[in-house]
Amino acid sequence: MAYAGDLTQAEFDALLDRKGGPAVAVHGGAGTRPDADPAPYLEGTRRAAEAGLRVLLQGGSALDAAQAAAVVLEDDPSFNAGTGAALTSEGEVELDASCMDGTTLRAGAVACVKTLKNPILAARRVCDDTPHVLICGPGAEAFARECGIPEVANASLITDRQRARWEELHALALKEGADSVRRKIGTIGAVAVDARGHVAACSSTGGTMYKRPGRVGDTPIIGAGTYADDHEAAASSTGLGEAILKVTMARAACMLVREGASPRAAAGEAVGLLRARAHGEGGIIVAGPDGRLGWACNTPRMSRAMIRAGMSSAKAAV
Ligand code: ASP
Repeated sequence: MAYAGDLTQAEFDALLDRKGGPAVAVHGGAGTRPDADPAPYLEGTRRAAEAGLRVLLQGGSALDAAQAAAVVLEDDPSFNAGTGAALTSEGEVELDASCMDGTTLRAGAVACVKTLKNPILAARRVCDDTPHVLICGPGAEAFARECGIPEVANASLITDRQRARWEELHALALKEGADSVRRKIGTIGAVAVDARGHVAACSSTGGTMYKRPGRVGDTPIIGAGTYADDHEAAASSTGLGEAILKVTMARAACMLVREGASPRAAAGEAVGLLRARAHGEGGIIVAGPDGRLGWACNTPRMSRAMIRAGMSSAKAAV
């Protein structure tokens, strides 16, 4: 299928390279199927980026903006996060999410949660209200309950599409063994930069399809799935978590920006590193404190969108 996007690549590059916040970029995962109808991915990522920019224009922080964009994507059943997340080999949803504020380096994450519609909200409370960075499993669910974040039944997060995929993979696993199932990928993420150069990032995922229960990838790990530092940049990764963890891809991209690379060049180098050193497939979005944005993937597709102040609507590609 031909490249599906609102602009040509050269037009996107010019928009991404433009300086000056506020600006927001989001991704809907590097595992976007090449044969899938692009419309829901384009529409979903556009809506998320626009929600993020609205928060910034109303005076919200970069972290508030990234979080607002992440919630839109978690609630959209087209993406592998929140509602519509991939299932474990046991046929359940287990979610991971993280956030980081580039001004203070405050960060929060949850992993292996089964009862939260929006795990990014719990990650944010870990960041704001605890001395911890990462809380897992039942402890994270209990913490979310304490914070008054509503719990839902695991089954309510499972879509017909993910159940059908699970049935296919399960049949394959019964024939060839669970570890031989090729794990498809998908995640959501958002990066934001305000007009004063403060950056933030959020990521959220159901993880790889048919993963073992308890498996945790890069998404809730600060430095791998998510990173933000006003002295560097903000980044959210997507792709095979086991590979991303080995090259701490989000931090790698941010350090490249600190060393002088544009966010777009840094994103390209980071996915190059992922392939060269860890044989990994994936993608990344990056926001620099000067308002420039970047994205790159080494997969056939990655749904993504961006918007900056002055644009009447977000521009998306898949
Ligand atoms: N990084 C996620 C994980 O490995 C999946 C993805 O981004 O596609 O859990």
